[in-house]
Amino acid sequence: MIYQVAVPTPLDQVFDYLPPETWMPYPLAVGMRVLVPFGGRVLGGLIVAIQEESDCPPEKLRAIRAVLDKTPLFNTEELALLQWVSRYYHYPLGEVLDAALPSLLRSGKTERVKKPSQRVYSLSPQAREFTLETLPLKKNTVQHRICSLLWEYSEALSREAILQQIPNTASNLSKLVGAGWLIEEVRERKESLETFPQDTPPELNPDQLAAVTKIINSLDKFFPCVLDGVTGSGKTEVYLQVIAEVLAQQRQALVLVPEINLTPQMLQRFRQRFPVNIAVLHSQISAPLRLQAWRAAQSGAAQIVIGTRSAVWTSFANLGVIVVDEEHDLSYKQQDSLRYSARDVAMVRAQRANIPIILGSATPCLETLYNAQQGRYTHLSLPERAGSAAHPSVKIVDMRQQPRQLLSKTLFQAIKQRLAEKQQVLLFMNRRGYAPTLTCYHCGWVAHCLACSANLTYHAQPARLECHHCGVVRKLDIVCPECQHTELHFLGRGTERIEEDLQVLFPESRILRIDSDSTRQKQKMQGFIEQIHAGEADILIGTQMLAKGHHFPQVTLVGVLNCDGGLFNVDFRGSEHLAQMLVQVSGRAGREAVAGEVILQTYHPEHALFQHLLQQGYPAFAEIALQERREANLPPYGYLALLRTEAENFEKAVAVLQAAKTELNIFSDIELWGPVRAPMEKRAHFYRAQLLLQSVRRDALHQGLRTVMPELRKLANAQKVRFSLDIDPLDLL
Ligand code: ADP
Ligand code: ZN
Ligand code: ZN
Repeated sequence: MIYQVAVPTPLDQVFDYLPPETWMPYPLAVGMRVLVPFGGRVLGGLIVAIQEESDCPPEKLRAIRAVLDKTPLFNTEELALLQWVSRYYHYPLGEVLDAALPSLLRSGKTERVKKPSQRVYSLSPQAREFTLETLPLKKNTVQHRICSLLWEYSEALSREAILQQIPNTASNLSKLVGAGWLIEEVRERKESLETFPQDTPPELNPDQLAAVTKIINSLDKFFPCVLDGVTGSGKTEVYLQVIAEVLAQQRQALVLVPEINLTPQMLQRFRQRFPVNIAVLHSQISAPLRLQAWRAAQSGAAQIVIGTRSAVWTSFANLGVIVVDEEHDLSYKQQDSLRYSARDVAMVRAQRANIPIILGSATPCLETLYNAQQGRYTHLSLPERAGSAAHPSVKIVDMRQQPRQLLSKTLFQAIKQRLAEKQQVLLFMNRRGYAPTLTCYHCGWVAHCLACSANLTYHAQPARLECHHCGVVRKLDIVCPECQHTELHFLGRGTERIEEDLQVLFPESRILRIDSDSTRQKQKMQGFIEQIHAGEADILIGTQMLAKGHHFPQVTLVGVLNCDGGLFNVDFRGSEHLAQMLVQVSGRAGREAVAGEVILQTYHPEHALFQHLLQQGYPAFAEIALQERREANLPPYGYLALLRTEAENFEKAVAVLQAAKTELNIFSDIELWGPVRAPMEKRAHFYRAQLLLQSVRRDALHQGLRTVMPELRKLANAQKVRFSLDIDPLDLL
């Protein structure tokens, strides 16, 4: 027998090996990891095929050194999917497999079953002397709720389980321990079921019912559908009821979510509904827990997997449905090494597994809408908000009519009014730091990053200049390095400066700034969310971190301080992303009893995007945007691939792309644009160039790439040029 093994090397091929020389107590199978001699090294690899013969001369064949698994890590269907991924993204199979595995199984590591531990809480004997009613804690407070949860549960609950039931309670847990009401212990983490009082599902509204029925009737086949509904229209409820049926049929569900900070909310709803084992997979989960979750999905012990992008690689015993929540979200695309789209991989996975896949969004991406129009996906829509909340009203404010300042009169008045009514206000500004530019008024000098073609951003806390592209941090210049003048000025505003301005404008208000700087420490975000829910903040100023998915019932006014960023973006997806962002931020307003209000500030109120989006809604915007894409043969009417290079000088970076162009020129169905300097020419000392490939035929594009990629990889390697290929790029930056 000859074993074909994929090893993680840049060479896009598999290698033949003889069976191990030692006796094996069990047969080798496709999908098992092995150690093999490779050049002078020993590498971990995966058996992808078993054959009778090899093209390799027998004297050259070497034997497998060791076998790492007793059972395959992927079944044949999953392996076939990974092979498809390797072909589609033109990425070596060995490296695809490595990327798909949990880190503890990567690169030929032996699986060590380390027992993960967890913190567990129970009521102290002191607390047990009381009853729930006589416990000297204020009723309806978070602390009281934690105790009552434990009272109901009677034994002990893990920290994770408590946080899932009552989110954002981390600090209260420590307080309860400190006060002697709770006992904290570290115990071995078991895959035990922690069952909770079950939530009864609400009766579905007619649109939800129609959606659920259609999907449930198609559980035994590939059924791609778009669940198109504004925030709060009840999409999650549809997922839950479909999954209930899938679980009833003894099958598993995969739920992909975009952001890490979305997972706890989603998870809580799932926990309250289903008394089953739910595995969670995202980058903040420790490696041993990830492996445990992965194994649980593979064995079937976990019936539901909820996770971010990389959860799409999970091996399942019997997958029955895939949900991609907020399918338009950019975080589904990996932006380095294997540049895959988890949504697209999930689609192919569902097709190969013959199961339904639900793409949920209030703002489906144009590709998805197009597929629905073409009848490839079933379009299910939820036009109304579930429950009582009404659609928010949206107002555009022309900033040209305003003296140059942060807040227009309209927004200022609206904030004042909401604050007077004790409601919360969310202000949105997609720029962190204090000011994006530091300049000298005397000679015009601007603080630049020496490594990138970009300005340095001034941050006040702590005072520093920071490059948002390479991360370099510099001390603040006090005198101009060019002319020694001391009059240095900050231009523009980021969230830190806005926070400062707001404090002056609304001195009585409690202002909370939420961006990646203020939430860098673990648990910080949790704490903020807790504060917002408890009504301990009046004005929230944040970046896009706040735009997505959160449910803040007391926020009734949303202000977008400057929405012009995306209007004249060089990128062809700029307007799509802006439109999606605006709809998403608006979705944060007035999700409960009080009607919401959204105010957008712009210097270009006449821009067609606002007209279409606000007067006719996202579908009308999408219709026109699709028309523009059609005229330019852009996705979904054409297909793109972007070759990028980075080198110590431009000439080198361009030379490799020029070679690519020469090779690709013979393919008449591929249009080539470039090579050109990348929009961001220099990053972290490297000069960047790119070559865009465009074709109206996907197969032609891939055919061309298949022919030239192996040569190009070698050339780039030899020239010491960093080289990457981005299939279906989301941005051309
Ligand atoms: P989405 O996922 O589209 O944002 P959700 O499923 O989270 O919407 O629903 C929004 C709110 O409405 C939630 O609080 C949910 O519990 C509630 N809800 C959803 N469907 C119904 C229904 N059929 N009846 C009553 N309430 C519902
Ligand atoms: Zn100067
Ligand atoms: Zn830089």
